[in-house]
Amino acid sequence: HPHARPPARSGQAGLRIKTVIAVGSGKGGVGKSTVAASLAVTLELLGAKVGLMDADVYGPSIPHLFGLTGKPELTPNKKIVPIKSGDLPVISMGFFVEPDQAVIWRGPMLHQSINQFLGETDWGELDYLVIDMPPGTGDVALTLSQGAVPIAGAVVVCTPQEVALLDAVKAISMFRTVKIPVAGIVENMSGFVCPDCHKRYDIFGSGGARDKAEELSLPFLGELPIDPILRKAGDAGELAAVIRSDARARAPLEKVARAL
Ligand code: ADP
Repeated sequence: HPHARPPARSGQAGLRIKTVIAVGSGKGGVGKSTVAASLAVTLELLGAKVGLMDADVYGPSIPHLFGLTGKPELTPNKKIVPIKSGDLPVISMGFFVEPDQAVIWRGPMLHQSINQFLGETDWGELDYLVIDMPPGTGDVALTLSQGAVPIAGAVVVCTPQEVALLDAVKAISMFRTVKIPVAGIVENMSGFVCPDCHKRYDIFGSGGARDKAEELSLPFLGELPIDPILRKAGDAGELAAVIRSDARARAPLEKVARAL
C-alpha cells in the first residue's frame, strides 16, 4: 500500500500479534464499534487469526453487540483470559463492570487498563488485533502510540455528512500527531438500497469520505451501506452471528478487509 506502513511486528517476547489495527472516529454514533466488530469477524472468516479489543473503556459496546457476558479469568501467570465469540477472543471493560455502572477514572488508570488489555491478555498468536477506539479524544491513541505494541494503522470511520467529515479530519490529525499511521477512511451509512424497489437513497449523502480521502492523500477503504440487518443484529447481540451467516451483509465488509 503506498500510504500504509508494512505490518508492524512486535519484538517483545510473549506478544505474538502481527498486525494491530485501531478503528477510530471523530465522533460517536457513526458506527465505529459496529464496523470494528464486523471487520474483526470478517477478517476471521477470510482465514486470519483475529482478536478484538474494546478500548472504549467509558462506553464499551462490543459485549452488547456480540451478546457476550462473563468475567474473564486469569491464567496461572496472571494473564487475562479473553471471552470468546466462536473462536474470536474479545476483551472489553464491559466484562469487568455491571452494564449500568459508569467507569469513573483518571487518565493514569485509563492508560493502565489499555496497556493491560493489550499486553497482559492471553491473546495467543494473532494475525490481527482489531481495536475499537473511543470516539474523538486522543487519550487512548496516545497510550497506544507509546505502548509496547506498534499500531500498524488506524482506520477512520465516518458518515458522508459534512459535519462527520470535519470530525474525521480531526481524528486523522489526532492519529498523525501521536504518530499512528492512518490506514485509510471507511464511509459508513453510505446510502440505503430499498429492498423492494432496489433504488438507492443517499440518506446522509454519499461520496464525501472518498473525496476527503483523496484530498488528504489517504487510501479510501470502502463504503458500507445503511443495513437494517446490521442494526437489528447489533441491538439483539447477534452481530457476530449475522456477519458469519449472512454473506450479503458481509460483502461490503469483505471489500474493506481486503483493502486493509
Ligand atoms: P459508534 O461506535 O460510532 O458510536 P455504533 O457502532 O454504536 O457507533 O453504531 C451506532 C448505531 O448505528 C447502532 O445502533 C448501530 O447498529 C447502527 N449502525 C452502525 N452502522 C450501521 C450500518 N451500516 N447500517 C445500519 N445501522 C448501522
